[in-house]
Formats: sequence, structure tokens, C-alpha cells
Amino acid sequence: MSKTKHCEALRVVVRCRPLSKREQTAECENILELDDKLGRITIRNPKAPPDDPMKVFTFDSVYGWDAKQSDIYEDAVRPLVESVLQGFNGTIFAYGQTGTGKTHTMQGVSDDPDMRGVIPNSFQHIFTQISRTQNQKYLVRSSYLEIYQEEVRDLLCKDNNKKLDLKENPDSGVYVKGLSSVVTKNANEIEHVMNIGNQSRSVGFTNMNERSSRSHAIFVVTVECSEEGPDGQDHIRVGKLNMVDLAGSERQSKTGAKGKRLKEATKINLSLSALGNVISALVDGKSTHIPYRDSKLTRLLQDSLGGNAKTVMIATVGPSHKSFDESLATLRYASRAK
Ligand code: ADP
Ligand code: MG
Repeated sequence: MSKTKHCEALRVVVRCRPLSKREQTAECENILELDDKLGRITIRNPKAPPDDPMKVFTFDSVYGWDAKQSDIYEDAVRPLVESVLQGFNGTIFAYGQTGTGKTHTMQGVSDDPDMRGVIPNSFQHIFTQISRTQNQKYLVRSSYLEIYQEEVRDLLCKDNNKKLDLKENPDSGVYVKGLSSVVTKNANEIEHVMNIGNQSRSVGFTNMNERSSRSHAIFVVTVECSEEGPDGQDHIRVGKLNMVDLAGSERQSKTGAKGKRLKEATKINLSLSALGNVISALVDGKSTHIPYRDSKLTRLLQDSLGGNAKTVMIATVGPSHKSFDESLATLRYASRAK
């Protein structure tokens, strides 16, 4: 991988999980082929005749079932967190169908060091870096929120059913009014904050999986650094890191949703399609209008998408022939962002 790529504002990578036990038992076929040197992924339509050409997509990187959590972090995420420590904003998304590894990639398993995901690895990275500096003072704050049906909730507040409003202020831009912000002094403390939020995500809902597949969870770390300048004054720089476990990208219409469910599904798709539109307008570079205002998700991330901010999109896919339609849709969405 070239160094210059790491400097680009937007990186799009794809991660493919292994066939699950259940898929193996059901003798599912693997329809994906990865070339990690070229960042290329080939998908075969299981229903097409054998001479049908396969579809090929190219990304900044592709990671197969044997990629380790640390490979993803070191390669795709570390440069972005590095720039947050320098005072820039950054956003990491996990995008894909439910069950393809978004939460695995973002959270992982906290009690196994090799299985820790992007979020806990970023905590370690940030606090290790801070402990190595001498002349700077750091303040690390975190917030954890969820967007569910275009409504924002604070995952760190006891009353997590309260809906919060997005407000705008000419100086600080878009913010969530009343959102908790917790100061943490080390990696253990911030991990504790994450665990509290994760618990709060599941409370009061009968089916955790269903909820997490329909909501966007955003963990925000703000790193403030103050340093005495040559003029004897303190200079402050602030970087913000957003780590987003998006709602499942599967098309809800296929599940036969009606009434309230369908309305909900439309709203979920709204923020995902708004995100796709914002990213492709940014990539295009010619658009004078970036449609940030079209959803809560894009409004909230407005100061961390485009401009000086860096973005990494990790698209996750499963290899089974049964998820051909969804995997193809994910690859198309991700390649729009390139
Ligand atoms: P999502 O959040 O996209 O719905 P999950 O992260 O919950 O998906 O993953 C679904 C299942 O697949 C989990 O049991 C998870 O441990 C497993 N899994 C996901 N990605 C991988 C991977 N790269 N390697 C091994 N297992 C994985
Ligand atoms: Mg999940």
C-alpha cells in the first residue's frame, strides 16, 4: 500500500467475513474472490450461467476472512486517528448487511486482545500517544449516541429514551443539545464509558439484534490539546473522532414490512442513502451543494465529512451465495464512494 493513499481524505475498504458454521452446514457456496494486492473483489452471481462475466470492484484495500482486527486498525484506521490527534476531524463507518461483521469490526470482543475492534484499539492508540508527549496537556471527552428512526438518543444518560434535538450554532456548528460528554483519563476509563453505552443500547428492547440492525450508533471522542506557544500563550487544537456502526443496509422492502415497520424502514434507508449522496458529492468534487441536511446522520457528521476531515468507510460483506443481492448492493454503495 502506498503512503500517498493514506493521506487521501476518503478511504474505502471492504472486509469479508468467513462462512459461518450455519452457512457451512447448509453447504453455502463462496461467491467472492479477493485479491488483496490489487484491492480487488470479484463477485459471482450464483444464478447466472457459467459464462456470465463476474463483476469486479476495486477499493483502497480488501480484507479477507483471515484478516486480523489489528490488520484493519494498522492499515485502514491508524492514519485517521493520527490526524485526529493532530487536531483534525475524522469519521469511520462500518456499512453492510446485518450479520456481516460491522459490530465485530467496530467493537470486537473486549476480553480478547486479538479480537478487539476499531473502537477499543483507537482508545489504546490515543492514550498511548498522549502518554508519550511532554509539553502538551490533553483533554479527552467522549459521547455515545444512537440514531433510531431519525431520533437521537444519548446512550450515556440514564434516561436513554429521551429524544434529543440537533441544534446549530454559528461558532460550533451542529451539535446535540443536552448530550452527555464524559472526560476520561485513560484507556480503561473510556472503555468503561463504551461498555455503559453498549448496555444502554440493549435495555428496554426485547430484541437487541433487531434494534442494533435498525439504528446507527456513533461513538465520539474529542481530543483537545493545549500547548504553550512561542508567544507564551496557550494554543488549543481540537480533533474529533466519530466511529459509526451503521444500521444494516439490507433493503427492508424485501422483508415484507408494512405500516409502522415500513415507515421505520424508510427512515433507516433515508440516512443511509443521504450518507451515500453526501459522500459521492464530496468525491465528485464538482458539486457545489453537499446535501448534509437531508438526514440527522449527515447533519451530525457535517463537520467531520469533507473539508479537512478524513473518512474511512469499511464495507462488510458475507461470502455466501445466498446473500448475493445484498453483497452486490454493498459493493455498489461502497464503490460509489470512490
Ligand atoms: P453486524 O454487526 O454486521 O450485524 P456482527 O458483527 O454481529 O454483524 O457479526 C455477525 C457474526 O459474524 C458474529 O457472530 C461475529 O462474531 C461473526 N463475524 C463477523 N465478522 C467476522 C470475521 N471477520 N471473522 C470471524 N467472525 C466474524
Ligand atoms: Mg451489529
